[in-house]
Amino acid sequence: MAKQLDPYEMAVAQLKKAASVLGLSDEIIEILAVPERVIQVKIPMKMDNGKTKVFIGWRSQHNSALGPYKGGIRYHPNVTMSEVMALSMWMTWKCALLELPYGGGKGGVKVDPKKLSRRELEDLSRKYFAALSRFVGIDWDIPAPDVYTDPQVMAWYVDEYINIIRKMEFGVVTAKPDILWGLKARVISTGYGVAVVAREAAKKILGGLEGRTIAIQGFGNVGSFAAKFLSEWGARVVAVSDSKGGILNNRGLNIEEVIRIKRETGAVLNYEDVEKKLTNEELLESEVDILIPAAIEGVITKDNAPRIKARIIVEGANGPLTPEADEILFKRGVFIAPDILANAGGVTMSWIEWVNNRMGGWLSEEDAMRKLDEKMMNAFVKFYNYCQRRSDVDYRTAAQALAIERVVSAMKLRGWI
Ligand code: GLU
Repeated sequence: MAKQLDPYEMAVAQLKKAASVLGLSDEIIEILAVPERVIQVKIPMKMDNGKTKVFIGWRSQHNSALGPYKGGIRYHPNVTMSEVMALSMWMTWKCALLELPYGGGKGGVKVDPKKLSRRELEDLSRKYFAALSRFVGIDWDIPAPDVYTDPQVMAWYVDEYINIIRKMEFGVVTAKPDILWGLKARVISTGYGVAVVAREAAKKILGGLEGRTIAIQGFGNVGSFAAKFLSEWGARVVAVSDSKGGILNNRGLNIEEVIRIKRETGAVLNYEDVEKKLTNEELLESEVDILIPAAIEGVITKDNAPRIKARIIVEGANGPLTPEADEILFKRGVFIAPDILANAGGVTMSWIEWVNNRMGGWLSEEDAMRKLDEKMMNAFVKFYNYCQRRSDVDYRTAAQALAIERVVSAMKLRGWI
């Protein structure tokens, strides 16, 4: 894998690039480069062995021109403040691009959750959220899950928060378990959104999805549901992989079966009806129409970008392409649906859940899915049309420019600049 760039430096470099497309002043760039607020909290916690350990957490509130800060909280041993700041900036762009009534935020706790007992995990989650409680709120900052956090963690957050503020504001976090007023559809929403973007891109660029071949790297929540919907809609998913390796069958994989095998054995490699096994590197270079990297960041670099054969790349993961790969693929005419558009299904469903919480549970699961599809499609069409008008601008910059334009208009109207 390529040398990791500092994520915050990368986010600022991208901002500058998009700002030059929009002709924004240095003053505006300066305002957008720095989060409005970064909260650091210290979480001392008594571990099961009786010893006290101190954990550090952050919440970065990047921009609120369009509404309350929105974005997930990740638990990871390598989380840094710089990473959380960068991710909060990307959330501002993501929410603006999808035209959600939100700004951007992101949180993180530097911890390896796999090394905690369940009691420790609950205690850490409650303490972190208690420390943040005066900085979040249904109309202020609305967290959600991210890497290694899940609906159960959200349930602990809500419970802690309700006890502190003495108001039953379930809508302060999203992607809650459905019993606690989350939506069942939240689990499939990111993968579904990826599938919608692939479907719409295929309509524009390949004349339709029917029979088109697809390779998907990563068979977790995002990759497996994207595969499921795309195969239901008539595409031929020919290759998938997880961290242990990949499989290929040019006649198309039976996705329901692959999902079952993955669930039962933990690896797609145990699916038997295959022509060939693949490494993750080979999967990226396979002969397909659409490639969906839905695993980790930085997998397509200057080294393998020249060998990518797909005509469309849909970024299910965050940041799967390095900046150099972006450039090479843009020059080669590969259409890229960038992460802030392609994987926005999760936050879009979070918005629907938040609206539903405020309406006392009015929406059905069907309403939620319809709305998700519509939102993703509209955002795709706007993005695509913008790219047609500005064919000189690469796809990532185009998506960010479109988002930044909205944020800047709001800041101007509000008299911030
Ligand atoms: N963590 C997800 C993201 O990066 C979801 C955020 C949310 O639902 O607020 O988009």
